[in-house]
Amino acid sequence: MRLVSTRNAGNTVGALEGVLKGIADDGGRFVPETFPQISRECIEEIGGMTYAQAAARVLGFYFEMDPGELLAMTTAAYENFDDARVTPMKKLGKREFVLELFHGPTLAFKDMALQLLPRLMGAALAENGGKEDVLILTATSGDTGKAALEGFKDVPRTKIAVFYPEEGVSSMQKLQMVTQGGENTYVCAVRGNFDDAQTGVKQVFADPQMAEKVREKGYVFSSANSINFGRLAPQIVYYIYAYARLVRAGEVRMGDEVNITVPTGNFGNILAAYYAKRMGLPVAKLICASNKNNVLTDFFDSGRYVTNRMFFKTMSPSMDILISSNLERLIYRIAGNDPEKNKVLMEELTKDGAYHITDEMKMQLADFYGNYATGEE
Ligand SMILES: *Cc1c(COP(=O)(O)O)cnc(C)c1O
Repeated sequence: MRLVSTRNAGNTVGALEGVLKGIADDGGRFVPETFPQISRECIEEIGGMTYAQAAARVLGFYFEMDPGELLAMTTAAYENFDDARVTPMKKLGKREFVLELFHGPTLAFKDMALQLLPRLMGAALAENGGKEDVLILTATSGDTGKAALEGFKDVPRTKIAVFYPEEGVSSMQKLQMVTQGGENTYVCAVRGNFDDAQTGVKQVFADPQMAEKVREKGYVFSSANSINFGRLAPQIVYYIYAYARLVRAGEVRMGDEVNITVPTGNFGNILAAYYAKRMGLPVAKLICASNKNNVLTDFFDSGRYVTNRMFFKTMSPSMDILISSNLERLIYRIAGNDPEKNKVLMEELTKDGAYHITDEMKMQLADFYGNYATGEE
């Protein structure tokens, strides 16, 4: 499977190469050129698999790797979860289920991807045969930082530096990060909020002189944020697996559509659900749940994305984000996979902190419903 940049149709890479690069050289995001289609038979089969088997099966659609090697990776990635089912489901009401994504080593759902990403990167380094090691730069609003540090700790040929907003993470998250073990891990506080940290990291990635400087020292940059396709792909798995398990348990009839609600910050987790839908998973609405920083709720309502607004620190810091990195992937899609149209909007975002989409584009947002709740609610 090849990936293409959302800002330049000529910029394509293999999936593993895309994982190694993290962000496209033109500043765009890598997205799959086409979406592999998953059949009902395949969903049925997945319902009878372990999580690691299901992950190897789904990721096999994207990463051209030996199936045995892929299964060995997913098995190793998910074996230290504290529940053998990896992502157990709890029945809430008659038709509502909660997918538990907190059984990994750092308790954040990010473990689902970040326990696997270093292994994918290892495969990418082996494939690429280059002599440079990888220097991972990651901005965090709290949970990504610890999960990424833990995932990359002492992984050969990698170093990782995490940047967190000094006042923007919980004290537990800060302690989780600053007490991190490992010879190759670095943590740095940034004065400002998460958007400042993330924008700074993206600027470093986009700076050719900086890239040259680190290359001289024997490194290439990559990212462990969800701008990296290697974060998104493993997250597609649990939506497909959850559906397959519900069918197998007789809770959902094969082919019936389900709604998926996702608490959203950088728009990565919900985008993975959207990608599962694009692969053919029977999904009706993707419900984008925000907190008081409801920039996405407004976007789905009005088609206007306005980041110049009050920023609130809430009890859910991982959702305190105004510039959602992965929204670009959706914009690219609703612009008809047109990198030029996407680029114009992204330049407006950088320049004015806002953009409007056309009515035609807005019509293609019907897969989504956005709303928010305050802390009190
Ligand atoms: C990361 C995170 C989010 C936001 O997920 P995105 O993929 O950035 O949208 C929400 N809640 C928690 C607890 C998180 O760790």
